[in-house]
Amino acid sequence: MDVTPRPRIAELSASTTVVGVIGDPVAHSLSPHLHNTAFSAMGLDWVSVGFRVRAGRAAEALVGARALGVRGLSVTMPHKEAVAALVDRRTPSATQLGAVNCVATTDDGWLGDNTDGPGFVASLRNRAAFDPEGERCLVVGAGGAARAVIAGLGGAGAAEVIVVNRSPERAAAAAALAGVAGRVGAPSDVGDCSLVVNATPLGMADTGDADAAWPIDPALLHEGQTVIDLVYHPRVTPWMDAASARGAVVANGVGMLVYQAALQIGRWTGQEPPVEAMWRAVSGPAAGQRWG
Ligand code: NAP
Repeated sequence: MDVTPRPRIAELSASTTVVGVIGDPVAHSLSPHLHNTAFSAMGLDWVSVGFRVRAGRAAEALVGARALGVRGLSVTMPHKEAVAALVDRRTPSATQLGAVNCVATTDDGWLGDNTDGPGFVASLRNRAAFDPEGERCLVVGAGGAARAVIAGLGGAGAAEVIVVNRSPERAAAAAALAGVAGRVGAPSDVGDCSLVVNATPLGMADTGDADAAWPIDPALLHEGQTVIDLVYHPRVTPWMDAASARGAVVANGVGMLVYQAALQIGRWTGQEPPVEAMWRAVSGPAAGQRWG
């Protein structure tokens, strides 16, 4: 299947169905590329575009999108919490997180969903051959991405979801999203965990002050662990390199990116998303150029 990005302008018409991503900034977003790859592979006359929507203007964007017949919106920073309060109905994951990353038109108005947690779990199972059920997992971070991952792991039946974060009060609130499996922990918990996830921006660049940059000291990581860095730019962080050198199985955040987008495609179209085509669109050699 050819997934090389190509101009589709000549194929668009007055009957083309439009979806989009709202956020600020949005020009860097890979979501339209992922969505359009899916629509091409599915043979659908649909298009996805980016809409720069400033903070505080999500309500106007939803009203305008509905008036224009936009079928669905992917939602990114800074609008996820605001949109959760604006939609007509929410899925359980959107309600639990108080954040929406996907809205879809329905007969009853906008339905708000959150595909980040389920997308992360699907990427773990399908790309890292790791099933969290019954496993002890540790998540570094308590922000938006971490909260989705923690809720996803709890929902997938992890035995423990241990949260390590700079701000302890945020760690406690995030750990609660995993239900009885969630608790606040410390880096010393890492050794006993089979999954370690970095959901902070730490460890992206080699600053020359490695100790300060690591989300978790790589010396605590070992063979037999699966280590995921949610960062996907760059595709391989110094922390991932260090974890790999310790013998861990390592993956970046591309899996979560692809699977959360695939679940959005399914939500909007009611059809099975072409995950393999979407995966190749952002993990192949041509896609590497997009990340410079
Ligand atoms: P966020 O809501 O701003 O949360 C950032 C988290 O990192 C917080 O827990 C924060 O701790 C912690 N943190 C930030 N700077 C720190 C520092 N200097 N020292 C210690 N802790 C620090 O951000 P987010 O949206 O969750 O994104 C987090 C990461 O995930 C980013 O790298 C982003 O690119 C990535 N991400 C990936 C995907 C994907 O699909 N793969 C999706 C979303 C995000 P405090 O609570 O103490 O402030």
